[in-house]
Amino acid sequence: MSGAGGEAGGAGAEGRRSPSEGRWSLSEGRRSPSEGRWAEPEAPRPGAESPQPEAERAESAGKAERAERAGKAGKAEGVGEAERAGKVEGDAKAERDELYAQLRAHEGRAATAGRGKDLVNEPMIRHWCEAMGDTSPAYRGPDAVAPPTMLQAWTMGGLSGHTDSTGRSAAYDEMFALLDGAGYTSVVATDCEQEYLRPLRPGDRITFDTVIESVSPRKTTKLGTGYFVTTRTDVHADGELAGTHRFRILKYRPAQRNKVPEPTRRPRPVINRDNAGFWAGVAERRLLIQRCTDCATLRLPWLPGCNACGSAEWDTVEAGGEGTVFSHVVMHHPSFPAFAPDGEGGPYAVALVELAEGVRIVSNVIGVPYDKVRVGMPVRLEFLVADPDLKLPVFRANEGG
Ligand SMILES: [Zn+2]
Repeated sequence: MSGAGGEAGGAGAEGRRSPSEGRWSLSEGRRSPSEGRWAEPEAPRPGAESPQPEAERAESAGKAERAERAGKAGKAEGVGEAERAGKVEGDAKAERDELYAQLRAHEGRAATAGRGKDLVNEPMIRHWCEAMGDTSPAYRGPDAVAPPTMLQAWTMGGLSGHTDSTGRSAAYDEMFALLDGAGYTSVVATDCEQEYLRPLRPGDRITFDTVIESVSPRKTTKLGTGYFVTTRTDVHADGELAGTHRFRILKYRPAQRNKVPEPTRRPRPVINRDNAGFWAGVAERRLLIQRCTDCATLRLPWLPGCNACGSAEWDTVEAGGEGTVFSHVVMHHPSFPAFAPDGEGGPYAVALVELAEGVRIVSNVIGVPYDKVRVGMPVRLEFLVADPDLKLPVFRANEGG
């Protein structure tokens, strides 16, 4: 949820406001969440009979074409595309869907209601803008407004959740129990759409209420078969409707997946013109560091230009092989036998090794159990022959120091 809101945050900065209208809107497309835009007036548009949400309108318009394209290509990606390409079961069939009828009975019922934990306030606005990199002057100073895309943020309960009576309604829980009970146990958020009716300002007191707006007929997507559930949250500021937040999820029964055999070889490095020299060196058991011939700055990994002076001229120096562990992580999941020393897919250590020359490289530490790798541990370069076609620079722990 916060991810969707976060992406919307970036869009808000680019949104346009039509000065004659106090109405703002942002629709997040499934594939391009940054299409922020200010809404057009309430009056119906030519050819639009009802105030159908932007996304749906666009979806209707492009649906046939997309479905055809996805059908032809035969490779719908992700749920959005899958939904478009997915088979919407016919109306007649949908009506025979008993579960659908039960779910639909929940449309229009309350899902949650509550009040914002904090008044709209400057510190939260500032933190949001810093996190989003949004430097718009509209969000600073005595006349600051909150970024419109923060709409949902004011309704969130934070890490501790809402401690007042705010919470999910019995109707909402009941609908999910119906879905879970029928085997539609998985959930994925598919899209979010916000509409802004008036700016929020520091001091505004937020209340909100969420209704189950609609439940789709059963649909089959690439992820599995299920029902799209859309909730609509009306956000009020001091009693006045300030915006709406629609959120859609797919509750689904996961499609059976064919078990893919575990790869037994390490993935191949991606070799391109910019790093070919590095891998050519590795093939000869040499770890080559790029050196700018203009300012002598060393760089690793290889890059087309010098970050220090911008020069594109370079040569190489061979690493002596001494280094220390600068930082490390242990990979536990997913299991990947080719990476684990015992070949059983167990945990393995990935380290950022600082070479004596001063540059750093991501590699594996060998010769010591994964849980014994330590920051500052001295290591020495070796070349691992992963298979006949692949040598890799790795670092052996040198406990003796
Ligand atoms: Zn340079």
